[in-house]
Amino acid sequence: MFSCKICSGHIDLIHDFGRMPIANHYLKTAQADEFFYHLQLLLCQKCSMIQLGECVAPSQMFHENYHFISSTSQNMSHHFERTAFDFLQLVQSRRDPFIVEVGCNDGIFLKHVACQGFRHLGVEPSKNVAQASRAKGIQIIEDFFNEKSALKIFNDKGPVDILYGANVITHIEDLASVMKGASALLKKDGWFIFEDPYFPHVMEKGAFDQIYDEHIYYFSVLSVDCVARSFGFKLVDVSPQPVHGGSMRYYLRSSQSSAQPKAVVGKYLQLEQKMGLNALSGYLKFCEKINQNACSLKNMLRKIKEEKNQIVGYGATAKSSTLLNYSKIGVDLLDYITDNTPPKIGKFSPGQHIPIVSHERFVEDHPAYSLLLAWNHKEEIFLKEASYRNNKGKFITYVPQLEIV
Ligand SMILES: [Zn+2]
Repeated sequence: MFSCKICSGHIDLIHDFGRMPIANHYLKTAQADEFFYHLQLLLCQKCSMIQLGECVAPSQMFHENYHFISSTSQNMSHHFERTAFDFLQLVQSRRDPFIVEVGCNDGIFLKHVACQGFRHLGVEPSKNVAQASRAKGIQIIEDFFNEKSALKIFNDKGPVDILYGANVITHIEDLASVMKGASALLKKDGWFIFEDPYFPHVMEKGAFDQIYDEHIYYFSVLSVDCVARSFGFKLVDVSPQPVHGGSMRYYLRSSQSSAQPKAVVGKYLQLEQKMGLNALSGYLKFCEKINQNACSLKNMLRKIKEEKNQIVGYGATAKSSTLLNYSKIGVDLLDYITDNTPPKIGKFSPGQHIPIVSHERFVEDHPAYSLLLAWNHKEEIFLKEASYRNNKGKFITYVPQLEIV
């Protein structure tokens, strides 16, 4: 039986998804062997942190050929440009401020810090994206962020003004080590800022595809506030972000800092308590939604297929792995998945082994229906595919509701 990975508290099972392949692990052949793990979503009774039971070793997920490249999305590029601008304003009056990013990917955020001449460092374990960052003139260490690497950075380069992580803190199983590292590395008046998909939004939309091996934790303001306090921090601000289908940015400062939490933190805490997010009963409706959504989507695809229409997947996203494998949507329903990330093309999706093909093939084929697996980039994709949609091409979306558009 599991206990909470952070506070060792008792845990309850929210939902069992069964055996799943690694979400970002694309196969070279349809017959290739793959690794499966047991995907279970758990709730800590003590700190309210939602977390996975079994975790996949980081070396299995983040390796030389990690397939998520941040800069392939224009919306994300704009988001991180704005973020860099906001953060530089926070520290611009300080003498020689130092900004460190955990999991800097291909430098989509740090390039805006580096080009203005600010001291910075990216901590990135995946070789291919670390190299892409270096090519942009960004200082990088190839490592996982934890207490040990944080102490090394502190000793080599001194204390940090802002420690930032976007869509990465929930990926790190030893969150206690991250918190201790942040505490050791930051100046007393420094900031630990991170943003990740906001779990109450995931619940509202029934977007269970956000749950997969890379996301070990699922944050709410309640759970982040509780964890922050137990590691010598206080949560002083939160700010919703319109990325990844609804994220929340959390601003933590040392408990010794004089900064007081903004009213918005109290508002969210009250709201989440009202939703019952500190007890298992608050999650029952979400569990019902998971099964309903999986079932209705599969029924719709079957019906379209019976009418002899071609359906393909659009966007070989990590999140689509949970959707396709839990709902058992395979090559009998989707002919292929189209994607514009070169390393994925020619490979096969994890678990269901659906071929991944180029965007050119999609344009050539002009399939009648496309299942929008990258639903969080819907607006950007609809702009790009205006001609597909104007020529009778239809998208099937399933978040926030199932519809053909
Ligand atoms: Zn806990």
